Amino acid sequence: MYGAGDVRIENVPDARLVEATDAIVRVSLACICGSDLWPYKLMEAGEKSRVMGHEAIGAVEAVGADVRTVKIGDVVLMPFAYSDGTCDFCHEGLHTSCVHGGFFGTPALAGAQAEAVRIPLADGTLFVLSVSKDDSLMPSLLTLSDVMGTGHHAARSARVSRGKRVAIVGDGAVGLCGVIAARRLGAEQIILLGRHADRIALAKDFGATDVVSERGEAAVDRVKELTQGFGVHSVLECVGTDQAIHTAIAIARPGGAVGRVGVPHYETIPEAQPTFYNNITVSGGPAPVRAYIEELLPDILEGKIQPGRVFDRVVGLDDVPDGYRAMNERESIKVMIKS
Ligand SMILES: [Zn+2]
Repeated sequence: MYGAGDVRIENVPDARLVEATDAIVRVSLACICGSDLWPYKLMEAGEKSRVMGHEAIGAVEAVGADVRTVKIGDVVLMPFAYSDGTCDFCHEGLHTSCVHGGFFGTPALAGAQAEAVRIPLADGTLFVLSVSKDDSLMPSLLTLSDVMGTGHHAARSARVSRGKRVAIVGDGAVGLCGVIAARRLGAEQIILLGRHADRIALAKDFGATDVVSERGEAAVDRVKELTQGFGVHSVLECVGTDQAIHTAIAIARPGGAVGRVGVPHYETIPEAQPTFYNNITVSGGPAPVRAYIEELLPDILEGKIQPGRVFDRVVGLDDVPDGYRAMNERESIKVMIKS
């Protein structure tokens, strides 16, 4: 990515081992993420170009001398952040705060919208899958790199549990996975705030019980109508805009919680007085998806959840620029890249 709206497919130097704890993964499946659309909209032309992408499944092609558990030929899933798996925060299940960790697809580390990707701290980062590369579950497994784990984190942060009323702000892939997560955790009422017919249909399949397509105050009023005037116990904020966080806080009932997983593009958390007087918890952050793989994987393998249905377009590497355009124009929910 060179700047807003400027994605090019180019030959770059091959990914190679740098540290003894690295692995090189040959990418078979990758994705374009909703969060990739932020630089696609806002990146300035003068900024250093970067290799985007932080979600992938592939085969291990090379390992450094100190890699112990990951082996050449393993089919592996890559979480959007790398982590050592051994520090205090990794032990607490907060791998995105790993003291040696970092993020893929940044100016500092090339990402996975590529033929191959260098994985730092391979033993801690990669999750070895016991499936073959052409398994039909691959699209759903791929969502464990980010969107399914992130939707689950939103639900956990918003304290979803059995019998609760839940609202999801945002009908992108993460919001839709948030519907799956809320259902999975036993929510009784699941209200999706979204406006796109294809996404609403999928959300209903995933377990949404109500849909609110109004915006701003009208959306708040509608959610209140659907919840006996009180609002919901749990709000999954999956957008990150100023309007989304305002709405999320306004529809939380007293004692409720908002789980934020949309990268915030606002400077301060709003509504200091309502959150105070209503005892509303505002929580969330980058999802430690590495910690959630083991919990979510069995449900995918058993066919209980099918988050891979968020992919509604498959492109080859050469068509990645058009994939960005399609997602940015809301023509596609989420694009899978097959190399
Ligand atoms: Zn760590």
